[in-house]
Amino acid sequence: MKNIYKSYQDYLSEIFPYKVRKIPVNSGFTCPTRDGAKSFGGCTYCNNESFSPWYTKQNESILSQIEKGINFFSDKYGKGKYLVYFQSYTNTYSSIKEMNKIFTQAANSNDVVGLIIGTRPDCINEEILDYLKKLSEKLFIAVEFGIETIHEKTLKFVNRGHTYRDSEKAVLSADKKGIHTGAHLILNLPGETKKMMLETAVQISQLPLKTLKIHQLQIIKNTIMARQFCKNPELFIFFSPEEYSEFIAEFLEFLNPETAVERFISETPPIFRIAPDWKGIRHNDILKMIISVMKTGNKQQGRLFNR
Ligand code: SF4
Repeated sequence: MKNIYKSYQDYLSEIFPYKVRKIPVNSGFTCPTRDGAKSFGGCTYCNNESFSPWYTKQNESILSQIEKGINFFSDKYGKGKYLVYFQSYTNTYSSIKEMNKIFTQAANSNDVVGLIIGTRPDCINEEILDYLKKLSEKLFIAVEFGIETIHEKTLKFVNRGHTYRDSEKAVLSADKKGIHTGAHLILNLPGETKKMMLETAVQISQLPLKTLKIHQLQIIKNTIMARQFCKNPELFIFFSPEEYSEFIAEFLEFLNPETAVERFISETPPIFRIAPDWKGIRHNDILKMIISVMKTGNKQQGRLFNR
């Protein structure tokens, strides 16, 4: 029997013959929507503090962050192999020299078998991709792009500062160099209907994405969106956990069956979150709900996918 959906674990087991874990770190770079290159204030929904682990927040060196991350995971799960995940900010928004300094330190760390580099589609170019391709001769390299949506109006509204065309170009160029690509999407961005979100599933399925993270929109404290929400709450419509699970089941039917889904929701700590309140429902609870909806409706990832 075929799997109901392709999980991140399925994807990792195609690459690594052993268990690997991700250690999030902070390169200390910034973003073009923060430093004034494109705008100030960042993407309207973003507060890096809300998703960065404690050990990445104290101006620690990369090596110290990796060591703390490995200690944390090995205390919890025993010794293992690790993928260093450059998660916070835009990790290709610097000179190659600066990137090389940081990525090489991570690559040379004990028990590190790969790097996952989070970035924006407008912060990648042939020179950076050639550098990453060279690095990928030594260890596993994947680049995770914040695509968020295919809809230009929404991208403008949330101050992304790039277009969907930039996303397509970035993913295709990286894939052409043999670099694994992933994407991040946010559902329920202001103004988006279910039809628009399904169009995103259809369009991104044309891209050679190896992995995908899907998140529900959350209003996070100390963001531009938090101020917009306070002023115009009617602009924001949230799914309940049940509605969300139903919708994701539908979304997966249009998604390319080759793309592994790494996450279905974001779990921002309540201390940072203004809305929605899903009353403590966690990622695995939502996953169970999605699978139940899919089983009941005989749904499967990619059933309605067309290239
Ligand atoms: S969403 Fe990404 S690109 Fe936008 S401000 Fe946050 S870290 Fe930077």
